[in-house]
Amino acid sequence: MTPTDVDLLIRNGYVITMDPDRTVYERGAVAVKGRAIVAVGRDHEVSSEVRAGRTIDADGAPIHPGFVECHNHVSLHLVRGAFGDSISWQSVNDEFYVPYWNTVTDEEEHVASLLACVEMLRNGTTCFMEAGSVFEPETAATAAEAAGIRALVADPFLWDVGGYTSDAPAVKRAPASTDHCLDILGTQLRRNDDPDALVRGHVAIVGMGSATDELERAAKEVADAAGVVLNQHQSYCLDDVAGDDLRHGRHPLVHLDDIGVLGANCTFAHMNLLRDDEVAAVEQSGMSLAWAPQSSMIWGIGGTQHGHHLDFHRAGVNVALGSDSSNWSNRFDIGQQAFLAVLSAREKERSRTALTAEDALEMATINGARAVGLEHLIGSLEVGKRADLVVRGNDVPEAHPTTSPLMQLVYSARDASVDTVVVDGRVVLERRQPVLLDAADVYRRADRAARAVLDRMGYHVPRRWPHR
Ligand SMILES: [Zn+2]
Repeated sequence: MTPTDVDLLIRNGYVITMDPDRTVYERGAVAVKGRAIVAVGRDHEVSSEVRAGRTIDADGAPIHPGFVECHNHVSLHLVRGAFGDSISWQSVNDEFYVPYWNTVTDEEEHVASLLACVEMLRNGTTCFMEAGSVFEPETAATAAEAAGIRALVADPFLWDVGGYTSDAPAVKRAPASTDHCLDILGTQLRRNDDPDALVRGHVAIVGMGSATDELERAAKEVADAAGVVLNQHQSYCLDDVAGDDLRHGRHPLVHLDDIGVLGANCTFAHMNLLRDDEVAAVEQSGMSLAWAPQSSMIWGIGGTQHGHHLDFHRAGVNVALGSDSSNWSNRFDIGQQAFLAVLSAREKERSRTALTAEDALEMATINGARAVGLEHLIGSLEVGKRADLVVRGNDVPEAHPTTSPLMQLVYSARDASVDTVVVDGRVVLERRQPVLLDAADVYRRADRAARAVLDRMGYHVPRRWPHR
């Protein structure tokens, strides 16, 4: 038989396909032609059938679908760590975010996005859904394209009853106005006209008590008509939940279900503090959750202890993962979110088997693909899907012994073993370095931009220890 020409062959790996049977090829290979996977299987079978333009030898290390980030804010990477451990949740908007949003420039948001994209690739993420928090989404889109990572962007800051907890946010470029929101709603969906676009559009509203029913319904209608995801924050902490209870006179998920907003294309972030009467509405809607455990834990919100994420997962609700933002989870690492999801669920239930390493990989890959509305394209290594994948390296101690590659991948090696990343058939990270960008230059530009922003804000990073 004449071998088929392919562009890329990745062979001699422990291939975790995440296909419907969850097939693992202990010594497997993946062949890529153009943007797509054209063969997955046992190494000797795939390798003998193809003639490859380029071959990568995984040397026994895992190969798996790229992780999918279902909720993050790339602009805020410039102010990572700026809170120290002293700012309070109640004061964070007035003290920090309003001044930040009122000074950050498009160029600075672009640099922040570049840093975020490099970090995501380095941690094995191949697709992210930005939560609609970049003033000019094009700045994030061009950063994603420059890094070679798949992305979904949305119209910025759709809110019309104030900020996260109904206080007027005073963000000049994002007026809390229904007319303004309806005016720009859906403009990012033009990106989906190109079926091969690396950066697509979805619909996001800020949520968490900041939208009227009119805006919620309009956003859902636009998302439905375009066949895309509606993404919003929901039920993060006691404050926004109490605000929603007061505004609606009932619990928010019950309300959103009743007004027709919940549906299979909804992906809500956090969902930390739901009450019992909200559970059925979520389960029956077919919606997805972007669970961000670290974002709850770092602020002591209680979502990992009081949330229903584990119950939802068991009930068949699509639970995926999000990193949120730079002072919430602090790093864009879906492997870390998966790790924390598993550990916190076990603590909550006092059971080693509450969630497993396999559950972690499902949440990070195939569930994420569904939560961003791209399950038909990404999330598993199957013929016909786009080649978005991660090749691990066994050149780190945490990957050994190689007798339990899947356990080592989730629990010990984690981000340390991410070696090569392929997105849309293109190698975009190699030997742990971005291929299309100069990482050192991105770091320099990000440091410079961060200093400039904090200076203009007149903000000093709190330090607990004397600095001389
Ligand atoms: Zn968020």
